Amino acid sequence: MKILVIGSGGREHALVWKLAQSPHATQMWCAPGNAGIARERLAKNGAAVECVNLGAEDLPALLAFAQAQRIEFTVVGPDNPLAFGLVDLFQQHGLRIWGVNRKAARFESSKAFSQQFMERCGIPTAAAGTFEDAAAAKKFCATLGGKCVVKADGLALGKGVLICANQAEAERAVEDIMVSKAFGAAGARVVIQEFLDGMEVSLHALCDGTTARIFPTSQDHKRALDGDLGLNTGGMGAYSPTPFLTEAQLADAERKILDPFMRGCVAEGIDYRGLLYPGIMLTKSGPKVLEFNARFGDPETQVYLTRLDSDLLELLQASADGALDRVELNWSPSASVCVVMASGGYPGSYPKGKVITGLDAANALPGTKVFHAGTALKEGQIVTNGGRVLGVTALGRDLKCAQAAAYAAVNAIHFDGAHFRHDIGAKAERG
Ligand code: AMP
Repeated sequence: MKILVIGSGGREHALVWKLAQSPHATQMWCAPGNAGIARERLAKNGAAVECVNLGAEDLPALLAFAQAQRIEFTVVGPDNPLAFGLVDLFQQHGLRIWGVNRKAARFESSKAFSQQFMERCGIPTAAAGTFEDAAAAKKFCATLGGKCVVKADGLALGKGVLICANQAEAERAVEDIMVSKAFGAAGARVVIQEFLDGMEVSLHALCDGTTARIFPTSQDHKRALDGDLGLNTGGMGAYSPTPFLTEAQLADAERKILDPFMRGCVAEGIDYRGLLYPGIMLTKSGPKVLEFNARFGDPETQVYLTRLDSDLLELLQASADGALDRVELNWSPSASVCVVMASGGYPGSYPKGKVITGLDAANALPGTKVFHAGTALKEGQIVTNGGRVLGVTALGRDLKCAQAAAYAAVNAIHFDGAHFRHDIGAKAERG
């Protein structure tokens, strides 16, 4: 089968790496891909994965490429092409594609839509209000004692969420988002949620329109510095499984969140086929949804796919075809840890073009896989080309072993100014 993967980050490298292991994959392209993706080979015939220089958001060019190459199955990694309707476009032209359609992508592209859906369907979430008027928004913040979270409704590159400790901060947040338009048109509407205290975990489920198949637990690390300090980032590391959700609690979350979610989608005519990734706060009164994402998490994908024993290509096809009740999802009992190595300065400005060494030595370590995110090939050398550069991932028989293996690999890799957290998974050890 000829496969096209859309995207260029660590998540897409993990998707390509796992799809390349499928005996059904005979040729694979990635648009635009990165230096690590270009090194992958298909298990069936040793063919190289080819990176094509097309932007993940250039819908007409992606369609023309898929038609010209007679691509048989396309897999979409990032959220923007989903929100722009790439899946709908391919389907209109009779092409098979995996990912949510535009309507389903609204769960991620509109926080107001998600919040109101959760309230309609009885999905546990924070008490919240949606506002298009700044004065009304501020008044609502006051009813929460000012301790609240102000969120721009639309896509804001993951930055449109402001956590406020008091009414003065809340009013400033409303002003910034709604009046000064700090996040542009995304802030024409805001969702204001009560602040929820607790431990945050990620859930992932593969959906096929009616059935949702939940993954094991994982936890990511959004802050830039050790001890959850510093600025928010795209994600500095992840591990799976996490001890903060027992099997019984996971089943409870499935019943309280995934079941009403799928029922609600069916009732409202939303054909949800793709990945559902709810961000969850484990509060004293049970798990509550903070937000929905409509694609795989990054770096959660790196830890999930290293633990997945089933054929990912078969699973994604079953998700696209409405056949998830007929496939098995098998997971390795091993733990997986992914440590992100970032460019110095990230998430602020950072240099590019720093030569990366030690990748082969790191990849040769047992149970280790170095996923590339922001890398490029320049004059025969692999260089940094983004904020998050690598996702150094390792399996171990337990979390401690996986952590030790991941950090041994990190220590084998060098580039100028490399920055990483030293405590990925440490929370789980402390319990
Ligand atoms: P979101 O993009 O909505 O997930 O928000 C980004 C981050 O803000 C989350 O990962 C949480 O750490 C935090 N956050 C969002 N909503 C809340 C809330 N209601 N209470 C506490 N923290 C929150």
